[in-house]
Amino acid sequence: MKNTTFTYEEAVKKIDSIGGKPIVVEAQWDGDTQGWFLRMFVIVRTGIFKKTESSHYLGTISLGGDIGLFQGTIPPYSEVKVAQEIGGKLKDKYGLEFFFPSPNNPDDDCPRWTERHRAINCENCNKLIIPTDSPYLPKEICYNCHLIRKQNQRIIDEEPYDDGVDMYLNKNGEFQSLGFCSNFESFKIAPFIKEKVEGVSNEEGIKIVTLPQDDIKKLIQDLEIEIDKQILEYEEPKIEKRMSRFVTTQKMKYKEKEFELMNRFNSHHENLIGLISSFDTAKRAFSESFEYKIYFKKGISHRDDSVLRFVNYSGKGKMKIDQIYERFNGIISTEEVDKTISKLVKIGCMKLNDNEAEVTEIGKNIV
Ligand SMILES: [Zn+2]
Repeated sequence: MKNTTFTYEEAVKKIDSIGGKPIVVEAQWDGDTQGWFLRMFVIVRTGIFKKTESSHYLGTISLGGDIGLFQGTIPPYSEVKVAQEIGGKLKDKYGLEFFFPSPNNPDDDCPRWTERHRAINCENCNKLIIPTDSPYLPKEICYNCHLIRKQNQRIIDEEPYDDGVDMYLNKNGEFQSLGFCSNFESFKIAPFIKEKVEGVSNEEGIKIVTLPQDDIKKLIQDLEIEIDKQILEYEEPKIEKRMSRFVTTQKMKYKEKEFELMNRFNSHHENLIGLISSFDTAKRAFSESFEYKIYFKKGISHRDDSVLRFVNYSGKGKMKIDQIYERFNGIISTEEVDKTISKLVKIGCMKLNDNEAEVTEIGKNIV
């Protein structure tokens, strides 16, 4: 959905042009591959002896910036504020009901106003929902609460959470992220630095592999040899007409020559894109005196990750222990929180100052 919105004045104009008595304005979530947005409707009652109610579309609010639902934190949706503002003003003007069943998080299982008699209240958050007909999902709670419940179970069970490797460029306390991959092998430079990371995955805790300048120099040379070999087979993009909608090309410079490369449906080109950008990064790292830092996790559980993430994001890196107890209250005991913090301290992800836990640089770099 492209970014779009509408004003209170536009809504009033539309409602007045419909005629009849506006009795409800509703805001409903909808989503597409790019994210969530809100659609608003007005329900109008017409007729004198035989009254009928009809729903009319008012407009859509899609403001972009939807970064999705990431672990345990729900980003604020700016669409909500706009909808509440318009809905509130319309409520005052017409004395109608503003029906917004899910203002706290996106949900497309909520009832329309006209089908609210079919809805139930979520047992956890009290939101009105139409019970799901999926055999795999619980019917008594909403989808969001289901996700929270599942995540809480992982925290209770201390399910392993070792997946993922983080890579950074580092110099004098400055870290630039080069990305995160579920497996080390997915990094383009993995085959070139294999011997540097050998044996790493068997060690408990956080293991950091550093590539100092000498190793970066070697990496640049190895990448160059590989690109020189690959580029001999370079052919200009041939894009069939029926594919042209799905492919874009990019121009990349390598050794003063420009190459046009397809970003899809051409594995040779895709490989070259990865190699050349890794080469450029390595050259920049070398000339600007950076080191590579690669973070591997072993023996980390969802419980450890959740506590670390909570302090890092909700507390901006620092938090009173009591607040951590409160956050995990009803999920794990205070003793279990203490144990988790001790473990995080032991593996170098946290520091303790009196009654406060602080996330270290290592901790920051793995969440
Ligand atoms: Zn709920």
